[in-house]
Amino acid sequence: MKAKISTEWLSGCSGCHVSIVDLHEKLLNLVETTEFVRLPVLMDEKGYPPADVGIVEGAVRSEHDRQALIKMRQSVKTLIAFGSCAVYGGPSGIGWLYDRTTVLDRVYGSGPTSTTGERPDSGAARLEQGVVPVDEVVDIDLYLPGCPPHPYFIASAIASVLGSKAPPLTGKTVCSDCDRKMEKRAGVRLKKGAITADDDSLCFLGQGVICLGSVTLNRCLSPCPGIGIACTGCNGPSLDIVTEPHLDFRTLISKRMNLLCGIATDEVKAYMQQEAKTFYSYALASPVMYKKPTMEMREWAGDKEN
Ligand code: SF4
Ligand code: SF4
Ligand code: SF4
Repeated sequence: MKAKISTEWLSGCSGCHVSIVDLHEKLLNLVETTEFVRLPVLMDEKGYPPADVGIVEGAVRSEHDRQALIKMRQSVKTLIAFGSCAVYGGPSGIGWLYDRTTVLDRVYGSGPTSTTGERPDSGAARLEQGVVPVDEVVDIDLYLPGCPPHPYFIASAIASVLGSKAPPLTGKTVCSDCDRKMEKRAGVRLKKGAITADDDSLCFLGQGVICLGSVTLNRCLSPCPGIGIACTGCNGPSLDIVTEPHLDFRTLISKRMNLLCGIATDEVKAYMQQEAKTFYSYALASPVMYKKPTMEMREWAGDKEN
């Protein structure tokens, strides 16, 4: 009998669901042994049929998200938090930087796509005050970060929960798959807003460009530095950041930059805090980040109640 898979899409961009379709021949292999009973991006199934595996994309931002997630948990045996929004809040977690009224005013009032200024006050799910990862609402059996998760890890995660083999684990950072050399340089200034650098052979940090590779879990096979783009941390925090409460990514990055090119640590830290939507936006909503004594993220973001 084929194993049943059910998926749900909360506050996310649908990119994680598209990445399931992006499995190509691996999807065909899965189809031989599994059956999708719910897949919002491809199927019009409004209910929550029983399934062996549940895959949930997106963070919890609204009452609808919360209820849908609870129904998913009740209808599946194993639930996978799928993608950085589900695991850490992801880009949706940027919502912590604004209160609900500001978000609604921006989207329905002054936003570029707003025409009437009317809010969806009736007939629409109520927006919660904050954004939370799915494990703040229900129990999760497997976490699969990534924005979206890499197809290799999706296929192996599904295979593992169906019992064929253990999921591949890595404790390595994005730096472990990056060929750029960490070399000291003098006279370098902080390049604000830059995501590229002149020398393709050298580490971005030594060229004054902030790269989060050293504080990011390598669940992507590190594509970005290899094609000339600094890592923005879309896989979420590295294991040391997750497990060590005293470690925060801004301190680590600023120290490495200071070591490589002499830029003052305070200048780097202040810039990263100012640009929070860019640096570690993927994990802003997670207690992994906001409970750190060095971050005080939710206090800094206005201590909004959920
Ligand atoms: S993790 Fe990334 S791809 Fe997935 S829903 Fe969130 S923003 Fe979209
Ligand atoms: S910090 Fe970025 S550029 Fe430097 S080694 Fe790590 S991934 Fe490569
Ligand atoms: S290298 Fe960094 S930004 Fe690029 S996919 Fe991996 S974690 Fe995301």
